Amino acid sequence: MSPALLARLAKRGDRHKYDYGHVLVLAGGVGRGGAARLSARAALRVGAGLVTLAPPPAALIENACQLNAIMLRPVADAAVLREVLRDARISVICLGPGLGAGERSRALVAEVLATGRPAVLDADALGAFAEAPETLFAMLHRRAVLTPHAGEFARLFPAEAEEMRAARDDVTRRRVLYRAAQRAGAVILLKGSVTRIADPGGASAEHAATGDRAAPWLATAGTGDVLAGLISGLLARGFSPMESAQLGAWLHVEAALRVGPGLIAEDLPEAVPEVFRLLG
Ligand code: AMP
Ligand code: MG
Repeated sequence: MSPALLARLAKRGDRHKYDYGHVLVLAGGVGRGGAARLSARAALRVGAGLVTLAPPPAALIENACQLNAIMLRPVADAAVLREVLRDARISVICLGPGLGAGERSRALVAEVLATGRPAVLDADALGAFAEAPETLFAMLHRRAVLTPHAGEFARLFPAEAEEMRAARDDVTRRRVLYRAAQRAGAVILLKGSVTRIADPGGASAEHAATGDRAAPWLATAGTGDVLAGLISGLLARGFSPMESAQLGAWLHVEAALRVGPGLIAEDLPEAVPEVFRLLG
């Protein structure tokens, strides 16, 4: 990880909370709100100024009794979302965890991408396009970050996933991921025991990054939702999509290393301040 980027991560000036961005976490259905709350909490911990959770109205109460610093705004459908997004201070949208993979999700993703604002697409926001990935690619832009795990990646990019499986070395895997990012027109962070990130704006596959540390105990429920929140919070702070993906993946592993075996997803946002303290 570049020392200059880490120095920027640690820096906090004398500014107002509105200067650190406002993340809207569009996620979480009935009984699936945990994923959305994990993303929201991670976005706040990494330094977003404000975070609003936007579940469907039926999931309002289960979320309301579990939030403090995070605000709540029910969003029934794409028409309501359009109204919510009239607030220009909402600077980043985190979409996916617990969202459901149906028509409502596709409409919400389309509405968000049409604004051109930085966005993180994870979980159901990707799964909703498994039948028609090209529909998603046509809407994507360079301020979006996709965070699939291997299964989600294979549904969006079956040919590239096959090449990835057959690849014998890391350089080849990075090249394949870079091609997928170019097809999508967005940054892709492919999760797994090793996490790889590719930026379609990079001049070549050599710009794709491979995580250099691993914490095997990250393989547990909800950790991916935390990562989506971390990246969203970093986008809100003003980092570029590629920087946010790299720093998010780095922080995720560093936080996990501090917690150690026995980790559950809830521990990760709580370990972020300790990682910041190390940065000085
Ligand atoms: P998700 O699949 O969305 O729940 O995300 C799981 C998270 O755990 C991702 O950040 C992965 O990179 C990470 N992860 C999964 N399996 C492993 C593993 N065996 N070792 C290290 N990290 C892992
Ligand atoms: Mg996930």
